[in-house]
Amino acid sequence: MTENKAIEALLQEARVFAPPVEFAMQANAADDAVYREAAADPEGFWARMAAQLTWFTPWQRVLEWDPPHARWFTGGKLNVSYNCLDRHLIGARRNKAAIIWEGEPGDRRTLTYWELAQEVNRAANVLRDLGVKKGDRVTIYMPMIPELPIAMLACARLGAPHSVVFGGFSAEALRDRILDAQAKLVITADGGFRRGQVVPLKRNVDQAVAQTPCVEKVLVVQRVGEREQVMMHRDRDYWWHDLMLQASTRCDPEPMDAEDILYILYTSGTTGKPKGVVHTTGGYLTGVNATTRLIFDLKEDDVYWCTADIGWVTGHSYIVYGPLSNGATSLMYEGSPDYPDWERFWSIVERHGVTVLYTAPTAIRSFMRWGPELPARHDLSSLRLLGTVGEPINPEAWMWYREHIGGNRCPVVDTWWQTETGMIMITPLPGIVPTKPGSATRPFPGVFAAVVDEQGQPVPPGQGGYLVLTRPWPAMLRTVYGDPDRYVQTYWSRFPGVYFTGDGAKLDEDGYFWLLGRVDDVMNVSGHRVGTMEVESALVDHPAVAEAAVIGRHDPIKGQAIAAFVTLKEAAARDGQDHTAELKSHVVEKIGAIARPDQIFFAAELPKTRSGKIMRRLLRDIAEGRQLGDTTTLADPTVVQALKERYEEEEEA
Ligand code: ATP
Ligand code: MG
Repeated sequence: MTENKAIEALLQEARVFAPPVEFAMQANAADDAVYREAAADPEGFWARMAAQLTWFTPWQRVLEWDPPHARWFTGGKLNVSYNCLDRHLIGARRNKAAIIWEGEPGDRRTLTYWELAQEVNRAANVLRDLGVKKGDRVTIYMPMIPELPIAMLACARLGAPHSVVFGGFSAEALRDRILDAQAKLVITADGGFRRGQVVPLKRNVDQAVAQTPCVEKVLVVQRVGEREQVMMHRDRDYWWHDLMLQASTRCDPEPMDAEDILYILYTSGTTGKPKGVVHTTGGYLTGVNATTRLIFDLKEDDVYWCTADIGWVTGHSYIVYGPLSNGATSLMYEGSPDYPDWERFWSIVERHGVTVLYTAPTAIRSFMRWGPELPARHDLSSLRLLGTVGEPINPEAWMWYREHIGGNRCPVVDTWWQTETGMIMITPLPGIVPTKPGSATRPFPGVFAAVVDEQGQPVPPGQGGYLVLTRPWPAMLRTVYGDPDRYVQTYWSRFPGVYFTGDGAKLDEDGYFWLLGRVDDVMNVSGHRVGTMEVESALVDHPAVAEAAVIGRHDPIKGQAIAAFVTLKEAAARDGQDHTAELKSHVVEKIGAIARPDQIFFAAELPKTRSGKIMRRLLRDIAEGRQLGDTTTLADPTVVQALKERYEEEEEA
């Protein structure tokens, strides 16, 4: 990417927040030396992190690196479920809450480590009796209920890789993922609750499995009961509760090689066809264990809540494996933030005394839209640390989160990572690193990132470029399942020996990383490179705007013209005024004339993936009058269809 005045302008972020003294004094990572030590001897650092786990057999070598193939902790043997359960059963943690769960209708369950271990052992025996052996793939398609982590841990106990498919996916999406993984067994539920409605999970499984000869058995958890009629196919379908009742509570954990597969997980599909990312046992657990402890600063009495769905990597790493391997209390919530009302999250924080909250920019922008009065009605004083992940966070949203949720007292950690990285890669350590709104700050100790140009050369501070990772890390994906060429092509071909993230970034004078969005989303306006992220942040900075998605539309003169899709905050949406001119000049003021949107289109909603990310490629299709591309990973396909129709009407008018 070439030099870019626009990036310069927007990222002149003067606000810096030092770690609060009280926080720093008690932090798990309190000494800056951790960065220097890890930089001087990364393998030594990761070996110390791996030593926090319990190994049945010690490893012989920390890293074997044959680019682009890495093997970590070779020769070592361990079991993930043992590390998440058995080792916490001695001493005080035995009766500590492992999972605090709240269902959407308001039902609750708490599982202590002891109880969770019993359930997992039972479930592992059930799976074994249904024919699941080490190495067999199991697809899990479930709502956010405790049986979901129980099923995952049971698979890990047997050494059967799981492939969790988000419960919001359709039967076809499920079928494709089952076939790709060649799963032998599917675990599901009769249904799940979503905004008071029942999602017919078992019916979707029936449809999918009709076309997946690899699947032999289906195990069904009862969640919604009589609210959903299910058909049980004889000799194929089994009720979870029937089999669990008879199963023994002892199942010895399978000693797994550090490099054995723990799971396969398909990426969100924001940019194209999802990839079956493969994560292994020893390196992955080392990575998520260390990052959880040092970034979320977990202590024995924390109530930690990651609001992601376990169907995404965030849930795998930071609801299940990271927190449980640390013996922490992990809160799980089944439903969405707007049901039964817009205060659901804050009532959960208040009632459970949540101390650490990890959520996504898309959720924060919704809360902003609904107004700060709602969280203000709740006692959020238990919170001590806030995190965000999933998309670049606009500085405006970061500040709002810090003030209205964190009471200006909690550090905010903006964590950059991917399904492929397995663990958080760029983030502040909250007791050490001063934060700036909108920046993910520094690579985690032992992680090496750079911003490079087309030739792979590092660019000076202030210039945009490609974000790359220059050394292997323990939790990195090992391959794309069933498609080793795609692994090499997608991640390791752009710059040989270096991992290509597909994201754009910029370094500032302090060596902080600023994520600029997908490289495909960077626009070229009259020869200037303008990041969609910058224009979006300038728009969201305007008091009337709730959310914005910006794309470059083909333009015969400029190359690309800037089109902005904007949703307004509640009050602005109702005031009957035309905000177009005001918003255009606001962007000019914030960034400069080259970033002035040529077109502003007001939308009721923006098209998002099921994980909540804005899908700009579909907006490009709309703006350029093309047929919509692949929409299977959209949360609500009607949103984009309606948008397309309205857009075309306006174009004609
Ligand atoms: P696909 O790869 O299938 O297109 P996806 O990239 O959305 O889907 P994920 O692995 O869930 O799938 O998302 C990782 C991406 O999310 C990152 O590459 C980045 O673009 C974005 N992202 C995640 N966290 C942050 C963050 N803190 N700041 C900026 N961007 C982020
Ligand atoms: Mg991706």
